Amino acid sequence: MTSLADLQFDNRFARLGDTFSSKVVPEPLSNPQLVVSSEDAMALLDLDPAEAQSEIFTELFSGMKIWSEAEPRAMVYSGHQFGAYNPQLGDGRGLLLGEVINSTGEYWDLHLKGAGSTPYSRMGDGRAVLRSSIREFLASEALQALGIPTSRALCVTVGDNPVYRERQERGAMLLRMAPSHIRFGHFEFFYYTKQHDALRELVDFTLQSCYPASQQADEPVLDMYRQVLRRTVDMIARWQAYGFCHGVMNTDNMSILGITFDFGPYAFLDDYDAGHICNHSDHEGRYAFNRQPAIGHWNLACLAQALTPFVEVDQLKAELATVMPLHQAEYMRLMRARLGWAGEQPGDEELLQRLLQQMQDSASDYHITLRLLAEDDSTARDQFIDRATFDAWLQQHQARQAADPGALAGRLTCNPVYILRNYLAQQAITAAEENDFSEVQQLHQILRQPFTRQPGREAYAAPPPDWGRRLEISCSS
Ligand code: AMP
Ligand code: MG
Repeated sequence: MTSLADLQFDNRFARLGDTFSSKVVPEPLSNPQLVVSSEDAMALLDLDPAEAQSEIFTELFSGMKIWSEAEPRAMVYSGHQFGAYNPQLGDGRGLLLGEVINSTGEYWDLHLKGAGSTPYSRMGDGRAVLRSSIREFLASEALQALGIPTSRALCVTVGDNPVYRERQERGAMLLRMAPSHIRFGHFEFFYYTKQHDALRELVDFTLQSCYPASQQADEPVLDMYRQVLRRTVDMIARWQAYGFCHGVMNTDNMSILGITFDFGPYAFLDDYDAGHICNHSDHEGRYAFNRQPAIGHWNLACLAQALTPFVEVDQLKAELATVMPLHQAEYMRLMRARLGWAGEQPGDEELLQRLLQQMQDSASDYHITLRLLAEDDSTARDQFIDRATFDAWLQQHQARQAADPGALAGRLTCNPVYILRNYLAQQAITAAEENDFSEVQQLHQILRQPFTRQPGREAYAAPPPDWGRRLEISCSS
């Protein structure tokens, strides 16, 4: 165990200097309170979970105090937002406090989101509201528990500061952790501003800090790109298999580590709707659920463009051509596991499509249907309107299932009971806005073990009530 005061810092990114980030001092919250903390994320820093109760914990994560070894910096980046290039983005309201090395030698960026204005704030106030901070906290820790690569969240604090969005809200801060905060948009910034020496420096830094094995390859930059591509594809395949819509897949929200990053108006599906658009501001449905794999490909092409000073275009194109086949293979692998189909058979994609089409036609709850199929086929039948079509499908599904007894146990460990539905998050946020943080904490605890039925918590496994269906989530945060 390490105590909070003794965290060991080694601020590699800050040492790259002012070309890559700007020194900024956090603007503290007033009268901060701790809303929720993650013992799992604390463990990554070797911290005792009891330390979350200390005064210094809340002070450090609300910008009131700062370690003498920390070097808060706002990073510069750009990116494609909704398909259009925005030349100047950057950390407008979040600061990289520093990089902590844990007892196993891992590096963890500590990033304080909502820490006040920076040179990249543009028209923004540099603040984050309680609502969006809770949403990011819960999603980070829920995705992790589902086995989906993601940035992590250590805690949320809230202050008295009024913050103005569609209405007045309370200012909050989220402490985000990731092994790196480098985004696709970092590379785009230096490419489009024609700072190719700085771009080379960024590439070398990313190779050393994120992809050290690629340094040994014949073509390190190409090899790194291939790894980024594969990780990104695997992450998106998991989103598709578990019904997660990111909502704002702009290239500035794509992590170079292929982890889920920068949560805005995300949503897990409730009833299955392939074309679901979770972001109220996404009028064209660019980031609809079923477009995520193709958008991943588009974003990877943007990253490829930024690497053209170092890698032959034809080589990058050859890598990009692998995206959709790799996606389909990984997605089918995950879905076969969820359905208990052993091995690969030629009709699998069609059989899966027929199930999804029936879910779409019956507006079946995606998660409940798949869990019931793993637990008890006959109750799954209740999720469908056209029973005859379902029965015909079920016969083929049962014939397709693995005969061995281990298969059932396997299916229960990949079909979650508990999902971070928007309405559950909303209930917790409503209570938190009234200063009752118990619901956020309880929901967080339930979502730490999504695959196990938890006695007394049946309500959390239920489909949404009428008011909680299709909640519109705005981009404002
Ligand atoms: P996001 O939609 O959160 O990914 O943010 C897109 C860009 O806007 C990033 O450069 C953010 O830092 C910036 N941004 C978002 N909200 C604010 C805010 N309240 N104040 C300053 N900058 C912001
Ligand atoms: Mg962002």
